[in-house]
Amino acid sequence: METDVLIIGSGPAGIQAAIHASRKKASVAVAGRTSASAASGTEMDNYFGTGPVSGDELLSRGVSQAESTGARFLGENVITAGRRGDAFEFTLEGGESVTSKAVVIATGISRRKLGIPGEKELFGKGVSYCAVCDCNFYRGRRAVIVGNDSEAAVSAEMMTGFASETSWVVWDLQASDVLFDKAVAAGVRILRSKPKAIVGESAVEALELEDGTVVPTDGVFIELGARSAADIAMDLDVMPEMDDTIKVDSGCATGVPGVFACGDVTGRPWQVAKAVGQGCVAGMNAAAYARGER
Ligand SMILES: Cc1cc2nc3c(=O)[nH]c(=O)nc-3n(C[C@H](O)[C@H](O)[C@H](O)COP(=O)(O)OP(=O)(O)OC[C@H]3O[C@@H](n4cnc5c(N)ncnc54)[C@H](O)[C@@H]3O)c2cc1C
Repeated sequence: METDVLIIGSGPAGIQAAIHASRKKASVAVAGRTSASAASGTEMDNYFGTGPVSGDELLSRGVSQAESTGARFLGENVITAGRRGDAFEFTLEGGESVTSKAVVIATGISRRKLGIPGEKELFGKGVSYCAVCDCNFYRGRRAVIVGNDSEAAVSAEMMTGFASETSWVVWDLQASDVLFDKAVAAGVRILRSKPKAIVGESAVEALELEDGTVVPTDGVFIELGARSAADIAMDLDVMPEMDDTIKVDSGCATGVPGVFACGDVTGRPWQVAKAVGQGCVAGMNAAAYARGER
């Protein structure tokens, strides 16, 4: 299959890129699964104009909108990527090969897990990987932040503005003294032990620590950072940053002609608003590149 633009990823960034690239009259194919988007299964209340909305509803509306502009959703992951002259060549899971004149990497990130009992079972029922996304749901409730780095420190301090009680479970402190002190000054209770299990029947009730402490809580926010799905980038000669994100300029260009990136894969903030903003830019510029306009 040949296309002007291949978009790798069908989350908010990739779908928005598809809408804008198609409207620029490029032929567009989109790889990946919406069900694997970080937005799937979430409830959002901080996206412009929608009010509270389910991530799946946003994704499904976005796909219909992109299809109506001519984008084709392939529903399969890309498993190999490479260059063929000035073009790019990909293989999909089912074995089909795709060549494109331009490519948009919108593969998102996968958040690091603790791997303890209760984490998977209670995900979405009090277990969250995004304090900045879900803090509003914890007004007047108890929250525990888990993590060692600056993102955990910042999340803990921020959470004090919402939760009635905020604890921070930290066992290998990597955050700076300044951020640690700010969290303490904001009233965060520090617990120095590793998490052992998240407990609850139909929702989170407590976090058990390895030193035997049981912390009653309504929410456990796991802030361990994230790994990016940036391997494809290297196959396209784009070198990811040390944290596996892909650096882009204000036009969402990676530095390799014809390769653009957008959304969570380009780094923080991990938010739909930023993903679709960059998706718009990446989609338009990829289409212009494919049509020889830049
Ligand atoms: C629990 C939770 C709650 C959240 N709440 C909010 C919120 O309230 N507000 C907010 O703004 N944001 C929220 N977010 C963050 C938001 O979901 C992300 O910022 C957003 O989904 C990023 O969009 P993206 O398109 O960059 O990546 P994603 O949505 O993660 O999409 C990545 C896409 O890449 C595809 N992909 C990966 N590898 C390949 C491959 N090899 N080949 C093809 N496709 C591939 C995947 O299938 C997927 O379709 C939340 C996230 C989580 C996890």
